[in-house]
Amino acid sequence: MAGIMKGKRGLIMGVANNRSIAWGIAKACHDQGAELAFTYQGEALEKRVRPLAAEVGGHVVGHCDVTDGATIDAVFAETEKVFGGKLDFLLHAIAFSDKDELTGRYVDTTEGNFTRSMLISCYSFTAIAQRAEKLMTDGGSLLTLTYYGAEKWMPHYNVMGVAKAALEASVRYMAADLGEKNIRVNAISAGPIKTLAASGIGDFRYILKWNEYNSPLRRNVTIDEVGDSGMYFLSDLSRGVTGEIHHVDAGYHVVGMKNPHAPDI
Ligand code: NAD
Repeated sequence: MAGIMKGKRGLIMGVANNRSIAWGIAKACHDQGAELAFTYQGEALEKRVRPLAAEVGGHVVGHCDVTDGATIDAVFAETEKVFGGKLDFLLHAIAFSDKDELTGRYVDTTEGNFTRSMLISCYSFTAIAQRAEKLMTDGGSLLTLTYYGAEKWMPHYNVMGVAKAALEASVRYMAADLGEKNIRVNAISAGPIKTLAASGIGDFRYILKWNEYNSPLRRNVTIDEVGDSGMYFLSDLSRGVTGEIHHVDAGYHVVGMKNPHAPDI
């Protein structure tokens, strides 16, 4: 099947480099004919994002730091311009916590990092949805990224687990709010993948090995696999689906106990 997303225009927020999950999803949408626009966070990442956007013939609509509402408004104004006023889909692949608090105990989280992590990793999806709604005049699809640490305790995930739980709840609330406009809201719960953001999580190599040995598929997932599932959610293939948290994690979320045949880590 090719051309599933022909004529669809989408904004991709959260590419840092070619290892980003957002890049995997962007490539899959491009392969199916979508026209893409990209934001970047700061000058250092601009240097990474511009060549990637060029690779898929995409637009670059500017710097966006979700802690600064003016930059969100600016990239939406530019998106409106380059897409002629209409947006069909949006990917939010943005999260942040102070690295020092992604190790040790959750209970030691500071108020400052808690509010900042919630703002960047949870509220930003709502802030972006408010702008996207205005451009999705013909319906649309919003997708965000979450992790199993929202559902169960994970070592070192700490405040991010709490922020992801709130993000997943916001998916359900926004799905209900925006459904009458045929705007769908979903999340992919991805298994662990070595990215820039993941490198901040304590013992991440251990988490990767644990998932590899104990998931039903006995391996980790790739950004291309998350990309294909992301394309499904952002396209009309998933037109009857909203409010969903969909696991792309080699099946790890169904496991209740360590695989007794797994090697030691
Ligand atoms: P990444 O480092 O490639 O992407 C994270 C992005 O967040 C970057 O592009 C960064 O610029 C952006 N960001 C952070 N703070 C921001 C701010 N204030 N304003 C605007 N952008 C900001 O890492 P990734 O792993 O691809 O992360 C994408 C999403 O996937 C995140 O929500 C992450 O929590 C989620 N996720 C990752 C994994 C994993 O193991 N890598 C697993 C499940 C979910």
